[in-house]
Amino acid sequence: MDKYVRICPYCGGTETIEVYQTYYGAVASVENKLHGADLYHTVCRKCGSVLRSYVKDPEKLLKKKDRRTDY
Ligand SMILES: [Zn+2]
Repeated sequence: MDKYVRICPYCGGTETIEVYQTYYGAVASVENKLHGADLYHTVCRKCGSVLRSYVKDPEKLLKKKDRRTDY
């Protein structure tokens, strides 16, 4: 579980499962096709709705020169 508390808007469930998608489901930057990022999903345990989709390290989708280095 991460720090975000969420309630499923579809069934009201509060239990979620974090899943992770790669290979064909991976998202790749339009600008930088060599750097794909695995896509993570938060899925409602009760009804299976995907509540959130996110990439762990979005900076990796940018070209090296465009990445933020100030944090
Ligand atoms: Zn649900």
